Amino acid sequence: MLKQFPFTPILGWSVSRFDTFSYCKRKYFYTYYGKADREFPLAKINELKALTSEALTIGSLAHDVIEAILKRLQKSTDVIDETRMKDFVKAQVQKYMLDKVFSEVYYKEKDTIDESYIIDSVFNAVMIFVNSERFQWVKQLPESSKKQWIIEPGGYGETRIQTDRGELKAYCKVDFMLPDGKDIYILDWKTGKADEYKHRKQLIGYSLFASFHFENKFDRIIPILAYLKGEYSEVVPEISQADIENFKDDMYAETRAMQQLNRDIENNTPVDKDEFTQTDSESKCKYCEFRELCGRN
Ligand code: SF4
Repeated sequence: MLKQFPFTPILGWSVSRFDTFSYCKRKYFYTYYGKADREFPLAKINELKALTSEALTIGSLAHDVIEAILKRLQKSTDVIDETRMKDFVKAQVQKYMLDKVFSEVYYKEKDTIDESYIIDSVFNAVMIFVNSERFQWVKQLPESSKKQWIIEPGGYGETRIQTDRGELKAYCKVDFMLPDGKDIYILDWKTGKADEYKHRKQLIGYSLFASFHFENKFDRIIPILAYLKGEYSEVVPEISQADIENFKDDMYAETRAMQQLNRDIENNTPVDKDEFTQTDSESKCKYCEFRELCGRN
């Protein structure tokens, strides 16, 4: 159902890419241009880039388990057995933790990771969704809808966004899209804290993603933030045409700002690492996976 694109090297905007760029230019360099570094081996940069954290692990595994539940729901609406679900979560967590290195351990903040805390957190997040009215609604959707569900689509959510100043490449990776008649719903799971500005921006991106990929197939695109912490809650923002235009203006400016650090824009080659400055705000460094490289650990 989704459009495909031939490979182009030019950088693509995404909320997370611009977030990293805004956080620290050096972190942005290591995250996106590690191959261009002359100071440290690429293997070291990649090792640090691959570090996970408890929060990232809980979010990632909650997404994986919900994906499995939705795929099961396409075939069966049998009641979910909580004991079997807990065993499934436990197996997923143990498999995931086999080859992951946690930054909390790598940087010696903790001796070990508490596996049962991760299992309980993932299980609780998943059950918050399973016990929600939204899950009951999803469950009763007709077969015609279920056949069209797009659950954690592969790839990076590549899309194109038309602005007054031309077409831009962007990545807006959606969690779950489900048509219901002439409407299409986009659900985005959040296991962490609410971040109204960032999450709203993501949802506008998802709306544009759906309108690009499905053109005029649906009358309404309804993006929903589903928070899976504490108790189930949703944010269904009103998105006006003015919001969309502002989003496109911001996206254009953010893409151009990131391209200032390109030596060759078309090929997305970076300028020298020295121009990717280290943040002045050293308090940010204590959460950064690359702090060993900057000597800020
Ligand atoms: S340790 Fe600090 S300066 Fe270095 S990349 Fe990370 S955030 Fe930037």
